[in-house]
Amino acid sequence: MIIPKSREEIELMRESALIVSKTLGMLAPKIKPGVTTLELDKLAEEFIRDHGAEPGFLGLYDFPNSLCMSPNAQVVHGIPNKTPLKEGDIISIDCGAIKNGFYGDHAYTFEVGEVTPEVKKLLEVTKDSLYIGMREFKAGNRVGDVGYAIQKYTEDHGYGVVRELVGHGLGRTMHEDPEMPNYGRRGRGKKFIEGMVVAIEPMINMGTKRIKQLPDGWTILTADNKPSAHFEHNVALVDGKPELLSTFKYIYESLKINSKEEDEFRVRVYD
Ligand code: MG
Ligand code: MG
Repeated sequence: MIIPKSREEIELMRESALIVSKTLGMLAPKIKPGVTTLELDKLAEEFIRDHGAEPGFLGLYDFPNSLCMSPNAQVVHGIPNKTPLKEGDIISIDCGAIKNGFYGDHAYTFEVGEVTPEVKKLLEVTKDSLYIGMREFKAGNRVGDVGYAIQKYTEDHGYGVVRELVGHGLGRTMHEDPEMPNYGRRGRGKKFIEGMVVAIEPMINMGTKRIKQLPDGWTILTADNKPSAHFEHNVALVDGKPELLSTFKYIYESLKINSKEEDEFRVRVYD
């Protein structure tokens, strides 16, 4: 059952989302060759607590850390460790926070130093697909419309769309209805309703869509060991249109990137 949120609840969810957004922005300049994912995890946990929130992932389904850290061929759910990142890596960071009983949950795939043009393209297409999917999150549409848009765009680039892991509704629990697959058929699936909040999160592989899991019971990686990218936003359906609760603005400020990609989604940020 989809649980729509009131305007007040959506504002609380924006607060939770922005704590995650700021956490990712804080991490962005620290993502360099030599740093370990465990160091970044500790910084994030401290930052989230300093902002009056709790890490959303720590202990959730018994996950051991505050961030999911998935380098290179890892798709999602990687566990932070003491292996230093190296030049040319990519690192997908997924972060969650709970404040006022509501979850924020989003993700960004960062470049470590200089990456190959092939990898850069994977990141660019995956991030673009997130916005292409978000545009379909509107009154009158259904879950399949978002999935179809993401799948069409990324498969047209020759990439693989992970099937086993999907986006989701978001609220007082991390995973609410509906599931939001990154593949689908137009006009199919649950109908979108005013006030609902979702996490849209394409997980896109450079090669095969197939995945495998490490014996740690968490880490998901590509079956062919080629790189994978993950971008995620939290979006509310307000007045029939997608309204962005999260933002990559803090990341872009840190990295001195100019972007207008969020403007059409009525993003609002308070400091
Ligand atoms: Mg996430
Ligand atoms: Mg999510």
